[in-house]
Amino acid sequence: MAGTAQVPVVAVTEPERVSAALLEIEDALLSDVVEAGEASARLEEDARVLGDDLLLHRARLCRVTVLVRTGELAEAARRLWPIQHWAEEHHERRLLARVHMVWSQVHQLLGDSALNLDHSLRAVELLDDTSTRYMRIWYPARLADALGAMGSMEEARTRYAQVEDLCHRYGRPDVLIWALNNWAYTELLADETARAQQVATRLRATAEKLGVELHSAILDTIGSIEIELGHYAEATRSMLTCLERYRDGRLEGADSRAEYLLTLARAQRGLGDHARAQASLDESRAICVERNIGHVLVRLHQEQAELHAACGDFAAAFAEHKVFFAVHTSLSTADREAKARTRQAMFETREAREEAARFREQARRDPLTGLPNRRFMDEQLTGLLDQDLPLSVALVDLDHFKQVNDLLSHEVGDRVLVQVAQLLEEGLAAAPAGGFAARLGGEEFLLVLPGTDEASAVRLLDGVRAAIGAFPWRRLTGAVPVTVSIGVSQRTESSTQSAMLAAADRNLYAAKHAGRDRVVSTTMWANGPGTPARR
Ligand code: GH3
Ligand code: MG
Ligand code: MG
Repeated sequence: MAGTAQVPVVAVTEPERVSAALLEIEDALLSDVVEAGEASARLEEDARVLGDDLLLHRARLCRVTVLVRTGELAEAARRLWPIQHWAEEHHERRLLARVHMVWSQVHQLLGDSALNLDHSLRAVELLDDTSTRYMRIWYPARLADALGAMGSMEEARTRYAQVEDLCHRYGRPDVLIWALNNWAYTELLADETARAQQVATRLRATAEKLGVELHSAILDTIGSIEIELGHYAEATRSMLTCLERYRDGRLEGADSRAEYLLTLARAQRGLGDHARAQASLDESRAICVERNIGHVLVRLHQEQAELHAACGDFAAAFAEHKVFFAVHTSLSTADREAKARTRQAMFETREAREEAARFREQARRDPLTGLPNRRFMDEQLTGLLDQDLPLSVALVDLDHFKQVNDLLSHEVGDRVLVQVAQLLEEGLAAAPAGGFAARLGGEEFLLVLPGTDEASAVRLLDGVRAAIGAFPWRRLTGAVPVTVSIGVSQRTESSTQSAMLAAADRNLYAAKHAGRDRVVSTTMWANGPGTPARR
């Protein structure tokens, strides 16, 4: 197409597009909860169509974070487990770090500071060079919040300071503002008003340098610090700005406006502006009642009592205090019940997980003898073959076992198999660690002996053979003897699992052919205790 201007096009594949869109939600410091919910639902569907499991689980986790922000904690917990499990199973470290960060938020909202700390610590431990910059800054900040909530203020300050440093290094003043907000708030909760103020000053400076408006949640922190400092006029101004900037709860949560009005009322009471304080309280109360926001309502009654007292109406103050107390008590009950429901949901999913683990474990065991089965053996042998160790394997087959079934009964046959399994395990006690016995099927067993060369394997196996033959079988089988034949082989440089098992099988056949009740190896055979002889 001569003459047409060539526009360079960078082809973006569909998985790349979905991944980039998810990353935007994952690493967003502040997002519209409704938009994030809709976008992650669409991306989950896209990932499903692509058949990409990692993208699918990332999208699911984004949806869980939306549930956490809208306060649906039980449902969030229920959906978190399978994502965590998948991330662990597939060694998806970055996803797992994000899962732990969400757990920490869930526990923070439940008021469980210890588990909040536990999970934020795990999230930080999982950080590595595959983590995004956002994670490397924000997760330590969240760890600092959790440390502060546990009362470890010195530890918290060290982390916050590191985070402040990282923000400068990575050029992320937007993250710095929020880290400083959390730091200031943590100091405030620890009654460290002066420190809180210092941090808030740096916060304001950062925002000014960036030329950004302070978010309403940050203004609430600042307003609360100013109240503690007795700067009621500044606090009132901060809170009026805060309320102007509050949108509709899509960024900061639906409860926020009621909280902000309460902070404003406290500032106005401090100023002596009792009428305006009362109006702010009334507006906050209306929202609390309409939306059933109990935890704000209880503090509101407390503030109302303070306001009555400030107005000199001590009877009303006392009455309001009684209301506060009643609401406080009933709220803690309701709160406890809600928490119990969430914990129940977490517990049930944990049970289901443990059940699945038990099932997986069972799938690797033979139900009759309790020994590992062929599947387990396959998995283990693959790993052992990767190691640079001598390795012997032995096939153990019962001699004329059909007779036991035919002359006695199938049930007696079963009991013989169980007893032989036990004798094999006892025989392994003399072997180096890491060895195991498995039942491959029927009356055929496998012994795996890592760290054992041919001579010591033959010696050990001949002991096992002798112990089986010498067992007092009479009680079980009467006059019918029980013996085993054993074929053993070693891992040589080139040998694969199937080559090793085939060699052991050939030696087993040789043992049967030579008269049974003996051990045959590739270069030696043994019959009777102790003295392996050259073949
Ligand atoms: P050989 O010395 O040549 O190995 O003779 P054998 O009789 O042991 O060998 P064969 O393979 O002919 O017979 C194996 C028997 O093992 C056949 C089957 O009845 C019995 N068997 C396999 N699985 C079980 C089991 O789970 N329980 C019982 N009771 N018997 C089993
Ligand atoms: Mg047999
Ligand atoms: Mg057999």
